[in-house]
Amino acid sequence: MANMAFETVTTGSAKPTNGARKETIQSFAPATGQLIGEAAVQSPDDVKRAVERARRAQQAWGALPIEERAARMLRFRDALIDREEELTDLLAKECGKPRQEALGHEVLVVASLITYFAKHAAEVLATQEISLDFLKHRRAFVLYQPKGVVGVIAPWNFPFNLPFRDAVIALFAGNAVVIKPSEVTPLIALRAKEIWDQAGLPNDLLQIVPGYGPTGAALIDAGIDLCVFTGAVATGKRVAAACGERLIPCVMELGGKAPLIACADADLERTARAAVFGGFCNSGQVCISVERVYAHREIHDALLSRIVQLTSELRQGDPMASTVDIGAMIFPKQIDIVEAHVADALAKGAKLEIGGKRPVGPGQFFQPTVLSGCTQEMTVMREEIFGPIVPIMRVESEEEAVRLANDSRLGLNAYVFTKDREHGKRLAARVEAGSVLVNDVITNGGMAETPFGGIKDSGFGRVMGKDSLREFCNLKHVGVDRMTPPSEPLWFPYTDRGLSILRKATRAIFGGGGVLKKLSALL
Ligand code: NAD
Repeated sequence: MANMAFETVTTGSAKPTNGARKETIQSFAPATGQLIGEAAVQSPDDVKRAVERARRAQQAWGALPIEERAARMLRFRDALIDREEELTDLLAKECGKPRQEALGHEVLVVASLITYFAKHAAEVLATQEISLDFLKHRRAFVLYQPKGVVGVIAPWNFPFNLPFRDAVIALFAGNAVVIKPSEVTPLIALRAKEIWDQAGLPNDLLQIVPGYGPTGAALIDAGIDLCVFTGAVATGKRVAAACGERLIPCVMELGGKAPLIACADADLERTARAAVFGGFCNSGQVCISVERVYAHREIHDALLSRIVQLTSELRQGDPMASTVDIGAMIFPKQIDIVEAHVADALAKGAKLEIGGKRPVGPGQFFQPTVLSGCTQEMTVMREEIFGPIVPIMRVESEEEAVRLANDSRLGLNAYVFTKDREHGKRLAARVEAGSVLVNDVITNGGMAETPFGGIKDSGFGRVMGKDSLREFCNLKHVGVDRMTPPSEPLWFPYTDRGLSILRKATRAIFGGGGVLKKLSALL
């Protein structure tokens, strides 16, 4: 087992060649400030070479039958599970998150994705025949072929789940992968790569290139075939523009501002627990956190009081020292942002129900905070918080709640709480988001079967779900003749007679009294 106290990691074969020591990123435990390890920053040349090696490795991997790829990926899953405790501890240490979250929201999710795609990838990626309406003498097929090398650029809040989620999908689709982990949390991806290598999977097929923003930019510039970016909206715009310059397709998984609509008939206890868990897990540093609560006036007071009560029972501290519900915040700047939201809300008339401060003592913590009397003008209701605040607003009606929920540039997740599930489904259809959960929060972030991704400024493209496998492929149409026709009416030479026949056929098939209309009237 690698030394947990401190680790120094260069990556793969990209060690410095001139004897000089490479620039390193130091990774600190947010809960204690302890230096836990460092990783070598990869230069643009290192990144280019990594992509070239990945491209060579992809040739053999892409040529394997999908069942063979699946068997190897399951070996990786088994190796991850064998070393689950080690991964869980490193995640808790490097991110400051509770171990239950490290296991349940990260390791377990990657394991379940591998299991799911091992079961379904062959069927999803099988060649499809398309039935042709008119040209019956031809047959058409769609082949799902690997794109080549997929570049994955990842954030720090789920530093194992997110890059390995995307890598797993890309690998099942037959691609090679180069991951640029967040500069804040480089160690966990390197540890997972070590497990990949030790499980006997092709070394160059999956590579990690630690570094800052410029390393991510270098990855886009290094000849990748698809970029999967997860991060902030502002960075996403830069990354999408860079991909556009190079005509590389990209998937954008950006910020969120998930509303929770509490209807008058919502189950009070479940809604309160959902708001507290959804708002405070991972210290609120989740793109699908409950970021604003719109509570119907009939349930508002009771819901607020239960949320405050439950919040007061949460235990916060170093996840490596004891069992806690709430861990640390990733870096001081994130705490500054949270404090600014609280200050803005209080200045505009919100009431601080509980929390609102950095607790005394070492480490980067912010108390779980509940604000009531919030209004849509406050930054806490409009901008992504990414911290442990649950802001609550009383609304007069569900109509008002839906209107306010949709009054946002972001649209990743949303939540509706009502005892009437059919009514919940109808409301969900009207809320502008990539996913809407009725009587639940967060779960879809780890659901292999369902598509995940945003609309509006929350991004585009989907990960997870069967369609994501196809999104990570090139769709190739192969057309084959069933029989050879005596002549081709659309080919040379053009003649007056040919034009006349074509005109009659066009009118007969598509015209008002045409064959199609008559046929559809009969059906
Ligand atoms: P960030 O945008 O600061 O960084 C994300 C990654 O982009 C990092 O690896 C960073 O080094 C890299 N990067 C920075 N500049 C770059 C450039 N010019 N070219 C290429 N790469 C560059 O985001 P963060 O602070 O790490 O993460 C928090 C954000 O991520 C939040 O906004 C959150 O909502 C979002 N997020 C979204 C999802 C989702 O699935 N939609 C999931 C988790 C987090």
